[in-house]
Formats: sequence, C-alpha cells, structure tokens
Amino acid sequence: MSVVIGVDELHRLVQTALANNGYSLEHANALAEVIVGSERDGAVSHGLHRLDQCISDVACGWVDGKAVPVVQDVASGVVAVDARNGYCQLAFKRACDLFVGKVLRHGTATLAIRNSHHLAPLWPEVEDLAERGLIALSFRSGRRTVLPWDGRQAMFGTNPMAFACPREGAPPLVWDLASSFMARGDIQIAAQRGEPVPAGAGIDGEGRPTTDPNAILKGGAQLPFGGYKGSLISFMVEVLAAAATGSLLAVEDRSTEVKGAQSANGGSLILGINPALTAGDGFAARIALLVKELDGNGAARVPGERRHARRRAAVAEGVRVDEAALERLRAWAGSAR
Ligand code: NDP
Repeated sequence: MSVVIGVDELHRLVQTALANNGYSLEHANALAEVIVGSERDGAVSHGLHRLDQCISDVACGWVDGKAVPVVQDVASGVVAVDARNGYCQLAFKRACDLFVGKVLRHGTATLAIRNSHHLAPLWPEVEDLAERGLIALSFRSGRRTVLPWDGRQAMFGTNPMAFACPREGAPPLVWDLASSFMARGDIQIAAQRGEPVPAGAGIDGEGRPTTDPNAILKGGAQLPFGGYKGSLISFMVEVLAAAATGSLLAVEDRSTEVKGAQSANGGSLILGINPALTAGDGFAARIALLVKELDGNGAARVPGERRHARRRAAVAEGVRVDEAALERLRAWAGSAR
C-alpha cells in the first residue's frame, strides 16, 4: 500500500526523525535533502529505505551524527575536507562555495572528502554543481561488497560515479551509476520483496552465480557491471575516491565488524571544470544540440529527464511513498531515543 505526502512535510518528518535519533540539525537537514530528494525523484532505493541505516549507524556508535566537518583550502585547485566520521552530505555542503569559487576562477579544481560515510545517490552533488555552470564528476568508495573480475573475494564497494553538465533551456544533463551490476539498495529491496535479481548481479557464498538476493547479501558477493571493464572502472573509483582522498580502502574498512554499522568509512572525490574557461561561450547550447541529436536518434531516455519529470509531479501533487515506511518514519519523528 502506498500513500501521498507533500515534499515539504516529508522533509520535515525525515529531518525530525534524524534529529531525534542522534543527528545534529545540520546533518539531519543535509541527509533529509537527499533521502526526500530520492523519494521525490523516484529513486526509492535511496529514499526512506535508507533511514533505518542512518539511525542504526549512529545508534551503534559507528558514525558521529554531530560531527563538524573541517574544510581546508589546500591549494588553488584543491579543497580537502575531513568529515570527522560523519555523513558526507554536510561535508559537501560546507565545502561547496569554496570549491565552486576555485573552479570558476581557475578552470578546474578537486574536492577531496575523507573520513566520511555515504548512503545516498551521487546525482544531488553533481546536479547542484552543474546548476552553477560547472561540468562535474563525482566518485565514491564504499563497503567491501563487489568481486573483482575473475576474483575470489569481494574487494571493492559498489563504487558509484556520476557526471553532470549544464544544458541550455533545460535542467543539467546528469547520469549516476554504480560500477556494480546492481546498486546494493536494489538487491536489498528485492530481498525484502522476496523477488529474484537478474542473472549477473552476484554469486552465493560458494562462488556460484545466483539470482537469490539473500544469497548475495549474506555470504555472497556482487559482481561488477560489464565484466572486466566494469571491474577496471571500479578499481579506478577505488583509487580516486578512497586512495586519492586519503580515505580507507574498502579492504581496510572495518564496518562489518561493528554490530549495527551500515556504511563504510570512506571517501568522495569531486572534480569540477568551468566550461566557460575551457571552451569559451556556447558550451550549454552545444550540449542542448547534442541531446537533440540523441533524441533524434531514437534514444528513448535522456538520463536525468525521468527523474525531473517525477520531481515536477511530486512537487505539484505530493510524493507517493510506502505506507509502512511512512508509519515507521512518523514513529521516529514523534519519539526521542
Ligand atoms: P541505474 O542503472 O538505475 O541508472 C544509471 C544511470 O543510467 C542513471 O543516470 C539513469 O538515468 C541512466 N539510465 C538508465 N536507463 C537508461 C536508458 N535506458 N537510457 C539512458 N540512460 C539510462 O543506476 P544504478 O542502479 O547503477 O545506481 C543507482 C544509484 O545508486 C545511483 O544514484 C548511485 O549513486 C547510487 N549508489 C550509491 C552508493 C553510495 O555508496 N552512496 C553506492 C552505489 C550506488 P535516469 O535514472 O536519471 O533516467
């Protein structure tokens, strides 16, 4: 069963639920933006479903829900943030203006966030930057869940990456994907619903290919997308997001040893390019031309457009959410632990 609720009301409930359960108001607000944004845009694997995980992470002492990120202006092209074992969303928000200023001024810059946790999609970060005129790339490390191609043991996270750029006359062009065959949230949802996952998603504890989500989640491992090529991309994301930010690698993360911990302590690397300096005038118009060519070529889906259509509908009519998840949310929002 599902019910409809206004976007602002949903945000208020999620923020209150997190603030009641160990998060500072600033962290609660930053996390509510991505959780509600995911429900609003139809990306339910990162919506209310993630709330239990955020609450569990703090309740067991694994994540600091009141961490104050430390932003460092390292060089003309580098901003580094120590998230102090807190969620990444607040670290990003706190560093964003300094980072964007550097990209606009110097043409390119890197934002390196370490000692941080992340359970959200990456598109909110890159979309925000593209709305400010930048080309943006984001890479994130994670929990040790994905097998390298032909490997025996999981050693990468689902290592997502996202890209966005401005487009004239329309919201930015955005794509955002895990480098695993499936995002882990989608496998968890399939397990909750008792549904199989597609062949290629993972292996069981004996190393056999399986379509049983529980066998993948409990003792098995996920597989990269696109065979060895996806595995190499996952390797690159591990280097950029974990090693290049001074964060723990997935093989060094200890979250699985802590009862209740749900997220890796890892890193995010965000790259920005100012197309006005690298390409001169007219970049956004040329992207509009490129998308028009794509449309004219029979491509049924321009990435990002489906989310934006859902967003417009949700803002106008409210978000349709799972009734049981909303009940749980109301209980958390009403009670302090
Ligand atoms: P999907 O496979 O659902 O989609 C990947 C991208 O491809 C999206 O940008 C989507 O655009 C686009 N797309 C999908 N179908 C088509 C099509 N037919 N034609 C053109 N474009 C298409 O994403 P994943 O399952 O790989 O990842 C889901 C989310 O999980 C991501 O947001 C990712 O950031 C997140 N994640 C987060 C992690 C973390 O640690 N925080 C870890 C791993 C994943 P659109 O949907 O906008 O149309």
